[in-house]
Amino acid sequence: MAKIAFLGLGNMGGPMARNLVAAGHQVTGYDPVAAAVEAASAGGVSAAETPQAACADAEVVFTMLPAGQHVRDAYTGEGGVLAAAPQGAVLIDCSTIDVGSARAVHEAAQAVGFYMVDAPVSGGVAGAEAGTLTMMVGGSEAAFEKALPYLQIVGGKVVHAGQAGNGQAAKVCNNMMLGISMIAVSEAFSLAEKLGLEPQKLFEISSAASGSCWAMLNHHPMPGIVPTSAANRDYKPGFAAGMMHKDLKLAQEAAALAGCATPLGAEAAQLYTLFVNSGRGGLDYSAIINLIQGKIE
Ligand code: NAD
Repeated sequence: MAKIAFLGLGNMGGPMARNLVAAGHQVTGYDPVAAAVEAASAGGVSAAETPQAACADAEVVFTMLPAGQHVRDAYTGEGGVLAAAPQGAVLIDCSTIDVGSARAVHEAAQAVGFYMVDAPVSGGVAGAEAGTLTMMVGGSEAAFEKALPYLQIVGGKVVHAGQAGNGQAAKVCNNMMLGISMIAVSEAFSLAEKLGLEPQKLFEISSAASGSCWAMLNHHPMPGIVPTSAANRDYKPGFAAGMMHKDLKLAQEAAALAGCATPLGAEAAQLYTLFVNSGRGGLDYSAIINLIQGKIE
């Protein structure tokens, strides 16, 4: 049994912290939002008044925060994790953030003797609740080994992606593929309909042919084709379009810094910007089909 601090008890962090409790660990959580703390407490997480109090005697610190700035502040800000956690604690940041921030925080952590990994996740709230998240992990071999037993509790598949920041690199590359695929599926099925081809028939064919992809098989943007689709429940997420938009912007930021041309990733980011700016960021990302079909004003 380890003493674990968990900062960020939101939609993802809350269930992850509860799973660590269920595995027998002593988890102390902090979140500035009282409702998030209450929900985590109901699952056996002890509430701390401050992040410093949560970290004070932690052997492991998890963070699951909204964006890069929150992570930089939480680790390197005044009274942050690097100042508050005991020497030797293992630091695990599961937030989705820009590669640059991830590497900067790693460097600061390493400079004062901590083992740290970036371990962003895929699988959404359902995966967080079930403890089946796919975890993509960046950091040294030694840091990965120390974090692995805890990552295996919140995740179903854990992959060491290489050096610090590579977890974030994997996350933006994966989600760029997903965003582009969803738009491709939306276009193809919209065209099929216009050509008088039943979407169900195209699904039957494409799911056994070369156009098949994960977005089509699991999150089909039209209702009535795939049981797991958000389209069957008025596009209630699932994976929110606002989250996809965030990840596509992170991918574009990374591509610009790396000097890599990603023309379809750029187009996908633009389309999700239009969609989110229309006030639909809270819908599932598959609802982008309504933009493709000109159904949003
Ligand atoms: P969320 O907004 O529900 O939770 C984030 C929590 O962090 C909030 O409760 C907020 O109050 C808290 N917080 C902010 N600053 C803090 C601080 N300094 N200390 C402690 N807590 C603080 O967001 P979420 O959906 O749980 O997502 C968290 C991260 O996971 C994001 O980076 C997101 O991109 C990523 N992610 C989300 C999903 C998803 O489906 N929701 C899937 C994969 C990855």
